[in-house]
Amino acid sequence: MNIENLLKYQAKDEELYKVEQKLFNSQYRKKANELTAIAKKSQTRSAELEAEAGKLITEIEDIKEKYNLNKSKTDSMLSSKIEDMTFEDIEKVNSLKGKILSNLNILEKMLQKSAENINYILAEFNKTKKTFDDARVQYAMCKQKIDEETKALQPEKERLEKELKALEKDVDSTLLAEYKKKRNDNIFPVIVPLEGGAFCGRCRMEQPKVAISRIKEKGVITCEHCKRFIYQK
Ligand SMILES: [Zn+2]
Repeated sequence: MNIENLLKYQAKDEELYKVEQKLFNSQYRKKANELTAIAKKSQTRSAELEAEAGKLITEIEDIKEKYNLNKSKTDSMLSSKIEDMTFEDIEKVNSLKGKILSNLNILEKMLQKSAENINYILAEFNKTKKTFDDARVQYAMCKQKIDEETKALQPEKERLEKELKALEKDVDSTLLAEYKKKRNDNIFPVIVPLEGGAFCGRCRMEQPKVAISRIKEKGVITCEHCKRFIYQK
């Protein structure tokens, strides 16, 4: 099979590939990808902080409930008149008073700790939000630059695509379909020469003798390693 036309097609396609690579390797695209990663990380962190805050609020509710319990015990204790109390009652009240004081002390410390935690979470949350907002602003700037770059290269891209289309009719249709499939899988160059009589011209993998013996008749063989077409010069 004559593969000259496919080689000609690929030579033109290489020009298009270079344009695509230029866009793909744009510093703004790289930066945009970095910013997307930062934004995602910020969102994850925000969700974590929200969960932590939720846990803390439950804890604070729990502390409040305990506080109210102790408070109502104190109230009922204070409402009984000392002259109505037996000696035993007074003993009980004294021991209860000690317990309540110690409880209130613990609860106060817990509340203080919770307040510190809430403040920390709030500060972290604001920091995270700022990181996210900054990333969003920078991303919009990058996106604009990417659009400008894409637009600037568009006429050249369209010209090459038109020229490629014109070359298509000279290439074997089955071969062309397979070529395009590989190209879509980001394989480029798609067709490479056999080197040293046995090796893939791209990945240097030695090809099976049976395959090589059929290369002239078939026009191309496929490298088992890098999936490129191999032809014999
Ligand atoms: Zn290969």
